[in-house]
Amino acid sequence: MIIVHPFLSWMSNVYLLENEAGLFLVDAAPPGYHQHILRVIRQSKKDLKIIYITHAHFDHYGSAAALREQTGAKIAIHHADARAMSRGQTPIRSAHGRSRWTVPFLPLVNLAYPWLKTAPDILLEDDERLDSFGLPASILHTPGHTPGSTCLLVDNGADGPLAFTGDLVSGSHHPHLQNLYADDWSQLPESLARVQAARPAQVYPGHGSRPISGDVFQQVNR
Ligand SMILES: [Zn+2]
Ligand SMILES: [Zn+2]
Repeated sequence: MIIVHPFLSWMSNVYLLENEAGLFLVDAAPPGYHQHILRVIRQSKKDLKIIYITHAHFDHYGSAAALREQTGAKIAIHHADARAMSRGQTPIRSAHGRSRWTVPFLPLVNLAYPWLKTAPDILLEDDERLDSFGLPASILHTPGHTPGSTCLLVDNGADGPLAFTGDLVSGSHHPHLQNLYADDWSQLPESLARVQAARPAQVYPGHGSRPISGDVFQQVNR
């Protein structure tokens, strides 16, 4: 039995997962958010086992290193995004619409937060299982937004898994394939198809104020 504790940070969503084996964090908010997350971790009186990062953008891993220091949890990310996170970078090759104006400022984030450099402890592969850490879940490689973007599929019995999808889809009311930033736009439809094929019961996006139901997620256009 998994309990999902969602946090909406000012920029992105963080999900704290709890089961009998311990706690697992899905993404780690922008820098400066660790005290807030630590408070909830300490209330639960369980150990944080893993800080799983969906992809190497600073609004998703910004507080990961500080949380590791305080809890001893291991930081996990797909190997294709490991170098960018180790360098404290937020690589964006292509941006659409008004998002284009944010790209020139991204190197400033790196300057403003030199401690953002976050070397991972665990390099994830496609299809890898996390059972050995106490979390019955698998990793799905879903490149496009970044080369090493992944989704986490947490076992949830016959209803279908709970999917944590980072920046693959946006919008909780009218969800759509994320269309602001990409490393490779052409990979996004196939990545979405992979997650849809897993038939998740519930989808927890990296941005947006609420989860997406499995039925609505199946209708998201590729
Ligand atoms: Zn992102
Ligand atoms: Zn994001």
